[in-house]
Amino acid sequence: MMTRREAIRAALLGGAALSVLPHLSLAQSPAAPAPTGPFTLPPLPYGYDALEPHIDALTMQIHHDRHHKAYVENLNKAVASHPEILPKQEMRRGEVPAQYLLEHLDKIPADIRTAVRNNGGGHMNHSLFWQMMKKGGGGEPTGELAAAMNGKFGSFDKFKDEWTRAALGRFGSGWAWLVVNPGGALSIESLGNQDDPVLLGQYPILGIDVWEHAYYLKYQNKRADYVAAWFNVINWDFVADRYAHRKLYV
Ligand code: MN
Repeated sequence: MMTRREAIRAALLGGAALSVLPHLSLAQSPAAPAPTGPFTLPPLPYGYDALEPHIDALTMQIHHDRHHKAYVENLNKAVASHPEILPKQEMRRGEVPAQYLLEHLDKIPADIRTAVRNNGGGHMNHSLFWQMMKKGGGGEPTGELAAAMNGKFGSFDKFKDEWTRAALGRFGSGWAWLVVNPGGALSIESLGNQDDPVLLGQYPILGIDVWEHAYYLKYQNKRADYVAAWFNVINWDFVADRYAHRKLYV
């Protein structure tokens, strides 16, 4: 039972908390600096022009320096109100993977869940996307990955057909993904917005961004031309590495 003295103290503290609210809102005004972590924008692993002529340098610069940066900043803003959802040590090192939050989205506080889904997804997707491409990429996968893809799709050309259908069939903004399912089987998925396959328990090994910001400067409305050209920049070594790694755990 709360004593009368404790009740008065609680009431006073409540009043005190209310009285500082105007200061809190001042501190959160637009003039206040945005949180600089725990999530950080990874550098592009190559120059802006590395993927020319298939993806132009200006698109890469805006895509990485503005779009990906905005996902990171908005994710940091969202988690700033709920620091308890992140392990403190990793927060200090700035190395918390957004994947962990997405895999446990149902545990994320409701008031930031959509922001984490969109911006955590945007951060994870783009962090992967830069590595899924490289200068002098393209060609075809080899080894264990090629065998698995041929077993699933029939041939590399048939994979390309299904991949292209998924990328072109996505209405509006989103991604096409090549994923490893929980049982180890490959499949192609088309997901909207910044939804990452980990939301569905799948593990992404290849993804193409078909938001207009990924191609519009060079290709305008011709998404099909962008998707066709994109095969020339795929980093199959990275895809094969993710596949081999994932197969260890299924
Ligand atoms: Mn994008």
